[in-house]
Amino acid sequence: MTASQTTVDFDIAIVGGAMAGATLALGLAKLAQELKRPLKVALIEASRPGGQHPGFDARSIAIAQGSIFELTRLGIWPKLAHLGTPIGNIHVSDRGHFGMTTLNASDFHLPYLGQVVELERVGAALFELLEKQQISLYCPAKLVSIRANIDANYLLLDDGRELSAKLVVAADGLNSVVRRDFALPLEQVDFEQVAVVANIGIDKPHGQWAYERFTDSGPLALLPMTNVDGQARMSLVWALSPAMAQQMLTCSKSTFLASLQQAFGYRAGQFIEVGERHAYPLKLSSMPRPIYQRTLFIGNAAQTLHPIAGQGFNLGLRDLVCVIDAVRGALLAGDDLGGAKLTHHYLAQRSQDRASTINNVEFLVRGFSNQHWPLVAGRNIGLRLLSWCPPLKTPIARQAMGWKSPITSA
Ligand SMILES: Cc1cc2nc3c(=O)[nH]c(=O)nc-3n(C[C@H](O)[C@H](O)[C@H](O)COP(=O)(O)OP(=O)(O)OC[C@H]3O[C@@H](n4cnc5c(N)ncnc54)[C@H](O)[C@@H]3O)c2cc1C
Repeated sequence: MTASQTTVDFDIAIVGGAMAGATLALGLAKLAQELKRPLKVALIEASRPGGQHPGFDARSIAIAQGSIFELTRLGIWPKLAHLGTPIGNIHVSDRGHFGMTTLNASDFHLPYLGQVVELERVGAALFELLEKQQISLYCPAKLVSIRANIDANYLLLDDGRELSAKLVVAADGLNSVVRRDFALPLEQVDFEQVAVVANIGIDKPHGQWAYERFTDSGPLALLPMTNVDGQARMSLVWALSPAMAQQMLTCSKSTFLASLQQAFGYRAGQFIEVGERHAYPLKLSSMPRPIYQRTLFIGNAAQTLHPIAGQGFNLGLRDLVCVIDAVRGALLAGDDLGGAKLTHHYLAQRSQDRASTINNVEFLVRGFSNQHWPLVAGRNIGLRLLSWCPPLKTPIARQAMGWKSPITSA
């Protein structure tokens, strides 16, 4: 099929403009400036930031130190830095058992281990940056169907417009229309858990500590946030059974705060306020092959992880950095942007990092949700060993910080 009169042609079309898609669009705009090459990029996103946005919602996420480094290289972090709260220390513990360990930025001669950002505010900032770039922003606009062809792929939007692109990057999340239309398989593991997410007010400064606590009811993470009206705040992700989550979503504020305090203890102080509570069903979803003809999948469209390890966007960022590197290579070599060389290069480059991150997160969730005594003993001895023997922390710190190259502890 050939392009109709009204089809607008692009080099690259990105479907989905949340964390992964918007960051990629900005990265490609910077690449075109660096190489002084024209690159026609379209970004198609169903919703503008603000309101009920599926990607830029009430969540806060931890961006690892290695990811901040990449975002800085892309020229994006300097524009977002004012929105971040640094994580200076991480405390990991197993409720009711002796195991605990800490990671401290100073042990690794780093200013911080990561930064916490509120997605709603980041979304608004990213869109402001996008509007200043040479990017064709189709928003609000929904991709309704896509078809692959030899020279380009064709994308039909809900307002009837049609685009063609030599390369399509699907960043359209877990329910990707691109994946659906190409009938590509998705592997799923249901953890039978629901994440309850809320901002928590505490009665003392958080001192840039982040906490990860494994409890009988499920893993719980608290991330440091900015103060509001002098009130210290932390962002909570609490993975619970669906029934328990339902209770925690509907109970009174005081019952919620008392239950959280009982599960977590007083290490972070007293929990005195809770904001709006939101629920996210937890599944691990991943595409065995996140490529198709002239198409690459990144971020949540390629894999959606359990949030407890804070790896989802960090992994998605590594996907999109790989796309930018592959596009740079193709432009410099004069190759077809959506050719099999580029798509297979992406597949090969991403397979090991994706597989190991997915396996580590699954191991962590299953290992720490299990009350079988040999596992409980094993993980507690492991946590103790980590706190007695700092060099053992390095692989864990590397994962937490999103580093791929070796670093050494003091
Ligand atoms: C509770 C929770 C806590 C988390 N904490 C962390 C953390 O600490 N650290 C971390 O790294 N990660 C964390 N994550 C994961 C992280 O939030 C996600 O990995 C990241 O936000 C995914 O971004 P994305 O752009 O890939 O996908 P999504 O956010 O799913 O965005 C997909 C976008 O595509 C758009 N779209 C979908 N279909 C269409 C269509 N047909 N046409 C046009 N647009 C379309 C949607 O509107 C949406 O904007 C957490 C996740 C959860 C749920």
